[in-house]
Amino acid sequence: MPLEPGEIARQLSGLVRGKVLADLPHRVLYSTDAGIYRIVPACVVQPQDLEDVVATIRYAAAEGIPIAPRGAGTGVAGESLCHGIVMDMSVYLSDKGRPHLDHDLVTVQPGTVLGQVNRFLAPYGLAIGPDPSSANRATVGGCIANNATGAHCLVYGHMARHVESLEVVTADGQVLNLANDVRPDPSDRIASGCLELLTRNAELIRQATNRPSRARLGYQLRGACHDGLIDMARLVTGSEGTLAVITRATIKTVPIPRAKGILQAAFNSLDQMAQAVPIAVAAGASACELMDRHLIQMATEAFDRYRQILPAGAAAALLIELTDDNERQLTDRLADLEVSLRPLAYKTNTVLDPGLQAMYWRSRTDAVPLLYRRPGQEKPVPIIEDTTVDPRLLGRYIQGLERISQEFQTQFCYYGHAGDGELHIRPYLDLGRPEDVQKMKDIAQQVFSLVWSLGGSISGEHAYGLLRAGYLRQEFGPAYVDLLRHIKRLFDPQEILNPGKLFSDQIDLASSRIRRSAHLIASRLSDLGTRTQACILECNGCGTCRLIGQELRMCPVYKAIQSEAASPRAKANLIEAWAAGILQEAQLYDPVVGQILDLCIHCKACSRQCPSGLDVSRLVQQAKALRIRQLGIAWPERVLVNNSPMCRAARLFAPLANPILRSRAGRWLLEALLGLDRSVLMPAFERGSFTSKARRFLARLGPPQGIAEKVVYLPDAYVCLYDHRLGLDVLKVLHANGLQVSVQTELPVPAPAIYYGAMDQAKAGLRRLVVQLWPLVETGSKVVVSEPTAALVLREELPILIDDPKARAVADNTWELMAFLDDLMARGRFRPPDLPITGQYAYHLPCHGMAIWDRPPAPGLLKAAGLQGIEQLDAGCCGLAGTYGMQARHRQVSNAIGSVLKARLGQLSSIQVITECSACRIQIRNLSSSSQPIHPIQLVALAYAKPPKR
Ligand SMILES: Cc1cc2nc3c(=O)[nH]c(=O)nc-3n(C[C@H](O)[C@H](O)[C@H](O)COP(=O)(O)OP(=O)(O)OC[C@H]3O[C@@H](n4cnc5c(N)ncnc54)[C@H](O)[C@@H]3O)c2cc1C
Ligand code: SF4
Ligand code: SF4
Repeated sequence: MPLEPGEIARQLSGLVRGKVLADLPHRVLYSTDAGIYRIVPACVVQPQDLEDVVATIRYAAAEGIPIAPRGAGTGVAGESLCHGIVMDMSVYLSDKGRPHLDHDLVTVQPGTVLGQVNRFLAPYGLAIGPDPSSANRATVGGCIANNATGAHCLVYGHMARHVESLEVVTADGQVLNLANDVRPDPSDRIASGCLELLTRNAELIRQATNRPSRARLGYQLRGACHDGLIDMARLVTGSEGTLAVITRATIKTVPIPRAKGILQAAFNSLDQMAQAVPIAVAAGASACELMDRHLIQMATEAFDRYRQILPAGAAAALLIELTDDNERQLTDRLADLEVSLRPLAYKTNTVLDPGLQAMYWRSRTDAVPLLYRRPGQEKPVPIIEDTTVDPRLLGRYIQGLERISQEFQTQFCYYGHAGDGELHIRPYLDLGRPEDVQKMKDIAQQVFSLVWSLGGSISGEHAYGLLRAGYLRQEFGPAYVDLLRHIKRLFDPQEILNPGKLFSDQIDLASSRIRRSAHLIASRLSDLGTRTQACILECNGCGTCRLIGQELRMCPVYKAIQSEAASPRAKANLIEAWAAGILQEAQLYDPVVGQILDLCIHCKACSRQCPSGLDVSRLVQQAKALRIRQLGIAWPERVLVNNSPMCRAARLFAPLANPILRSRAGRWLLEALLGLDRSVLMPAFERGSFTSKARRFLARLGPPQGIAEKVVYLPDAYVCLYDHRLGLDVLKVLHANGLQVSVQTELPVPAPAIYYGAMDQAKAGLRRLVVQLWPLVETGSKVVVSEPTAALVLREELPILIDDPKARAVADNTWELMAFLDDLMARGRFRPPDLPITGQYAYHLPCHGMAIWDRPPAPGLLKAAGLQGIEQLDAGCCGLAGTYGMQARHRQVSNAIGSVLKARLGQLSSIQVITECSACRIQIRNLSSSSQPIHPIQLVALAYAKPPKR
């Protein structure tokens, strides 16, 4: 590759309309996938259309630069990594939920997420058959290129079975429309060449591909040519970007079955489970999924809800699904299956209710991420994670695996698609240690040999990529691999398309370029702080944080922007690369790094939803702190971190300040001078001190009756500056519940300083709070806050940032208000309201509420207090994100994040919104002028209209 990255980018920028990224920070983001490797590309292109793809490939061919297409980067075998040009197909080449449907054929662009296509198809009663468990973020292009499949492989097989036609760009920049069952014109060099090669080698193909149906076969040569015809679309399916780049795909959909039922069977031994599998398959199971003892135990320990449905103590459980067009027939078939399994299973359970079935499926999917939460340097490593054998040989396969597990003293956890003989096994290894890298290779060789001895395959659904490319000769024999190579050369004579993937002569490919083998630089690690060090290697690249649907409250910035740089994975990757020395020390202070870090609003969703439990917000916070140490704090953030004196002054002169600051001219001036977004209308400042008002109010209420627990209410900045009424409502409810409540201080919780990385100010602010609050805590008071962010900061950030037992005591005794009342209710001490709470309300769950609660307490509490009509908004983050959206430079991102909520508010214009977070309430008012959102405590306070009986 003769050219420098900067030169490649300069030349490409003149050829394409999409983005060309040549800076090292952005290239680092594309240097990993969900596997174990790191290869930094020379350049990244985000093509905007077909012409861009053609121009980029032609350029790469002319310069002899390797090029690889990439979807969501969820492949586990390093198959989308390339040291030349990486083409990110997921940004612009996506139909964003508007594919084209013609009868049962759906046509989509390659960057469209598979789950999005299924959401589009669902109202028509259709779906894409293969269902990889990564479907909520994997792209159609990636799924076709990997020939993906999933839990329903038994009925739907792999993608290749469903791909009807593909528009592709070949290595010389030609656009081809590939179909199946074609008789190629002799002038069509590639198709006629393939037909000739496959016909001539029919016997070789038959012998080499005589494997279980789940097995992947290098290229899809089995059955690709028949009766003088060739399936060109199917041939390119599964080629891992090595034959052509897919720019459009037409896929045959499947009807969603009318009736589904589950039979869960529990076994005392893995052997009995293995004997049951062929029985389930013969009964026509559409899925037959395995969870072993370890996974069941992890799931039941982590989630109470699964104690009811998972068989504790079982050696293994199978989740067997049957589908039918006729419900009666389905129940009969489930009953027959249950009888057939009785001699093997000690317990069976038939589930017909769709909601309950979904819960059973979730128990399987929720459990797997727990494997990644095990603390320590040893992590589950993908290398033998999709090996597959004939399901009738599962028992012998597991016996062999047990032997290997004992020999290497490495625990294997068995789960996966038992019906297809495919187990997902990921041994725990620390790939930072050379001996574990060797162990990985030794385990792989032994397991692969075992699989081959049983006539199985080393890859049942994931790619060969870099990971397994070196083993293909052993799997299929040299003649078959030479045939694959001939096909590759027909498509790509220069071998520029994703070279070295799928097949290679280098057996050691699997253990070179390992991401974790990089030594982390001690001084950089220590700069990040102990807590951050612990999470620096936690990201496994799974891409769950690239999820765009509303089914999971994942990263709102990624959902809004849908570009790798916006994902939590990007930040984790970047900071890891800096700590590993891939980026120079000073590159942390590069403006590009600043822009990428700025794409975190510290909502904490990732820390809840990431399978590894990675708190990316904390990593970003630390990186921002290092940048501030070097560069100082930027303007709008300086204002937002140090806004207390300004706000106090505004409060003092509220009657004068309010009309000025809230006028168009005033807001324009604030944006021009301070960078504060003029489109965000802040509430009017209150006049006077909240604390004085609160003390007078409490004095009027007199001493409480009842339990006399002591609580100190810590009013947040919003209450003190903008909404004294809310603070008084809090006091009224606490008092009404017999609590001895006081207000001692108005000191703000320094959330902006923490999240912008202004650590000196943050620590100073927290120390002041500890000085005020600890004496109260020590004498038995609980600290109650009505702002979820304040609760999050005091409970989670305080004990990390201030290493002092007093800080720990304050943290342990801080309660978010609604959770506090919920606890009172659980203890039977919540006083039922005097008046009914009536009306229709919509509840908005704030991001930081989600971070502190297992479930939001307010809806349950209000229901218990008599409120009937409460709807969930389920619209994700509001976009203001504390003070993030108050900065003019964040307007576009903030608006994009808030657009879902805005649309939802438009549908519910007559319903009042309730939410605990003040920033959400400000934003909701801005998004919908008819909305007057309130804190849920204000409803409860209304219901305590009468003073408590004395
Ligand atoms: C937690 C987890 C669970 C998974 N579960 C499954 C599963 O159940 N079943 C399964 O099959 N896989 C699974 N996978 C693997 C992976 O998610 C799938 O193979 C998925 O199809 C990859 O899609 P992607 O968009 O992320 O592709 P990428 O990883 O970006 O790319 C995959 C390959 O496709 C090529 N490619 C991408 N776009 C194009 C294009 N437009 N034209 C040509 N080639 C292209 C790339 O070069 C690369 O070789 C899982 C992965 C993870 C991390
Ligand atoms: S941050 Fe978490 S969810 Fe995102 S890729 Fe990394 S491990 Fe997966
Ligand atoms: S904290 Fe929120 S915004 Fe930041 S990376 Fe995590 S999910 Fe995204």
